[in-house]
Amino acid sequence: MFIAAIKIILAMKTNLNKSRITELWIELLGEIGENDNRAGLQGTPLRIASMYEEIFRGYDQKCKPMITTFPNGEDGIVYNQMIIDQGTFHSFCEHHGLPFFGQYWFSYIPHAQGRIIGLSKVAHLVHFHSAKLQIQERLVKDVIDDLWTALSPADSEPKGMALVLKARHLCKSMRGVKQEGEMITIELRGLFKEDQKTRQEFFSFVQGG
Ligand SMILES: [Zn+2]
Repeated sequence: MFIAAIKIILAMKTNLNKSRITELWIELLGEIGENDNRAGLQGTPLRIASMYEEIFRGYDQKCKPMITTFPNGEDGIVYNQMIIDQGTFHSFCEHHGLPFFGQYWFSYIPHAQGRIIGLSKVAHLVHFHSAKLQIQERLVKDVIDDLWTALSPADSEPKGMALVLKARHLCKSMRGVKQEGEMITIELRGLFKEDQKTRQEFFSFVQGG
């Protein structure tokens, strides 16, 4: 049990060079006008370097969550209607290095002879692809590409899949135009793209929050 726990912790360690990142942050503090020796900043560069292992783990493929799926019907019921999940995410705008964060809504309609997925896996995958410098347009596609592949064994791909990301960007609210507001990006596959009723049903849940 103990060894298994250690293995999980080690698997989350990235290849980041923490001592180099610490050095660079000490230099950066000086360049922006800070005194890196003052009491409040002791330990800050190393703390930031350690934090980067977590918030930038999306660059390290070994941190990518395993996407386990199950045969539809395995637990005694074949489900072929819409499944909707929602959650939150945090990422970094690749143009300004500032956070963007908000909510996601994921939905899919499993194939009756296809696969189903545990929704915690969706959250882990959203968080993995968020853990790097990103743009919201790519993030929505990265997540759906992986989920579509995982849920699409031969001849039984899902009937449809959709992801909506709605996020505040600090590069819009704390600099430049200094406006609050949310950006929405959408990726639709199968029935969500082709069938207006399916799409509207899903969007009504999104609008309902
Ligand atoms: Zn930006």
